Amino acid sequence: MKHIVILGGGYAGLLCALELRKHVSSSDAEITLINKHSYHQLITQLHETAVGARSDRSLRLSLSKLLDGKHVEIVKGTVSAITPDGHAVELQDGRTITYDKLVVALGSETEYFGIAGMKEHAFTLKSVNQARLIRAHIESCFARYLYERDPALLRFVVGGAGFSGIELVGELADALPQFAREAGVTMDQVELYNIEAAPGILPGFDQDLVDAAQHSLTSRGVRFMTGAAIVQVEPGRVTVKTGQVVETHTVIWTGGVRGNQLVVDAGFETEPRGRAKVNAYLQSVSHPDVYIIGDACFVMGEEGRPLPPTAQLAWQMGIASGKNITNELRGVALEPFKPNILGSLASLGRKDAVGKVLKSYKMYGKMAYMAKEASQMRYLAKIGAMFHSN
Ligand code: NAD
Repeated sequence: MKHIVILGGGYAGLLCALELRKHVSSSDAEITLINKHSYHQLITQLHETAVGARSDRSLRLSLSKLLDGKHVEIVKGTVSAITPDGHAVELQDGRTITYDKLVVALGSETEYFGIAGMKEHAFTLKSVNQARLIRAHIESCFARYLYERDPALLRFVVGGAGFSGIELVGELADALPQFAREAGVTMDQVELYNIEAAPGILPGFDQDLVDAAQHSLTSRGVRFMTGAAIVQVEPGRVTVKTGQVVETHTVIWTGGVRGNQLVVDAGFETEPRGRAKVNAYLQSVSHPDVYIIGDACFVMGEEGRPLPPTAQLAWQMGIASGKNITNELRGVALEPFKPNILGSLASLGRKDAVGKVLKSYKMYGKMAYMAKEASQMRYLAKIGAMFHSN
């Protein structure tokens, strides 16, 4: 019997396991899913948990419940190395797991661009645990302010104004007044900065959507610093290229992502930002017996631009790789991956968003927010988690 091993229980890995079990019975193949945690994380909603607008429990869905009855062995463990030539995966706890077919769906890592002190002193928002840390830190800043009266405690900085940064800034703009009320401080003592290296926020997005986002956020007190690359983060301050310094005890870095280092270390052919080069079937170009999907891979879109590392493409790649492994087991031709970009919507806090759906239909405000919520519902329905309880 073949042994299919999937690394990562995020959007891509989970959908791959679910798709495989639609076509491949447990007598034809054993499937093992290896994940660092016992739960799947809804990382597209982390900005809400980081400010306390959504409970962290609601973003953690038990993998054993999602895969109940699917005959998928779930191994809780952290992958420490992949040896594609030996068809083996090593875990941090010393276990070695061998495979016939491997799917690497290990996601991305934060890109620090070598910025001095960023890794050491800034928060990142890539997991539920990090979101919890940010929330607790914000609370502690307000609590400390009551005793220390240091204005930098109430000055919050988000580095990067891509989709992740803007969504977080939107949530913070809505949530900080509540933190302030609870601490008994007035909002004129609280400052929220978004610092972006590019000349404007949401680089590359349609200008009218950018303008709407900027207007909405500015009206809620967000201070944008654009054309201002962060060059250094130290305890208590952040410095930008122009020499300007912002004194703060809170920097949350959303300045970009890169591929997973394990993929680079395993010797898979990668592009300069560590994402694996894959063929039309999502197999590694250097090791075609391994599928590499989701944020961990690099796929060129039809318009000659790399596909963005988004959740919707990760699910689609999970499904496509599940189908192609099935095809391989059945000895039929593989199907090229055809991305279907349904839209891009950036939330701007509670009940506001901007974006584009169906290629060019632009949405704003509450409608856009509801469209984003609907896509989240669709995803939960797809993975069978609509009525999931932890
Ligand atoms: P990103 O790379 O899209 O944006 C990072 C931003 O940080 C850029 O605007 C960049 O100019 C800026 N930056 C880089 N270095 C800087 C510096 N030194 N100082 C200040 N600013 C700096 O990263 P992201 O926002 O994490 O998004 C990653 C991917 O995930 C993207 O493809 C994005 O579209 C996608 N995403 C989508 C959604 C959504 O669909 N709602 C939400 C989050 C992320």
